[in-house]
Formats: sequence, C-alpha cells, structure tokens
Amino acid sequence: MNKRGHIVNAVLLGAGIGYLLEPSGSIATLRSVFVVGIPIVLGALFPDIDTEFGTHRKTFHNVWVLAIFVAFPYYTGNLQYVWLGIATHYALDLLGNVKGMAVLYPYPEMYDIPVGVPVTSKWADVVTLLVTAFELAVVAGLVHVGRAELLRNPTLTTVVDSLPV
Ligand SMILES: [Zn+2]
Repeated sequence: MNKRGHIVNAVLLGAGIGYLLEPSGSIATLRSVFVVGIPIVLGALFPDIDTEFGTHRKTFHNVWVLAIFVAFPYYTGNLQYVWLGIATHYALDLLGNVKGMAVLYPYPEMYDIPVGVPVTSKWADVVTLLVTAFELAVVAGLVHVGRAELLRNPTLTTVVDSLPV
C-alpha cells in the first residue's frame, strides 16, 4: 500500500487499541490512544524507508526487521509498541496488496497472501479499511478472552508468560 494507506491503517489501529485498553472515555482513554497510537504510526512508517535506502519490499520488509523490533524492548525497556506498527505495515502489504514482500530477505523470493488489490486500484482505500477492521477484530478478541496484557505490555516476556505451557 502507499504511505497514506499505511498511515490511515496505523492511526485507526493505534486509536482502536488505545481505546480497547482504556475504554472509560476519560482523559485516560486519550492518553492510552496517544501512548499506543504514536509508536504504532512511527513503526508503520519504518519499512518503506527501503524505498530510499535498499530495495523496496525487501530490505526492511522481512521477518528479521520485525524480530529486531520485537526484541528491542526486551533488552532496552523502550519502543514497546513500534513492532506493532511494523507488523501492521506487513499485514497491509500482504493482505491488502498484490505485490508481495521478500519475507526471508536476503532470500529473494517475494511472498504474498493471494488477496488484495494493486496500490492504484480504486478499491485500495476500502481494502485498507477492511484489513484494519480485521486487525481490530483480532485485538478486540484478545481483550475479550482476557489477553489485554499482551497489548498493554506487548513484549516478548509477556508473550512467553501468556503461553499455556
Ligand atoms: Zn511496505
């Protein structure tokens, strides 16, 4: 997707997660939307840096980049929500678009989930909103089944602690 699509997706997802974590409708909700939403938007902008540095849909569109941002808060206590922005960028590129990504870069194979539309399609905005709605449904499901902690503190430690073993 293009930059506008990624920003719309990340803003809606960040606001949605922020609200779902703090649905009181008070100033705490607004704070939660900013605390969660801004790092997600910044993370969602990161992969397309490879349009200028590297090869687009390859250099910063792979599992290694995501792994670095998932691991970063574990070691630094910082940037907790940025990986969610990177993950939603990948989700939108894989589900909403038809071009694919070199998920295992530098292995050059471009992988794609066979749904989505070209960036230039008149349906691109609709598809972006559908992917966002799907992501928010997943998040609402996690909150509903008592896994809000995964979103409140989305670090490797929390994920490992929440495993049923
Ligand atoms: Zn991209």
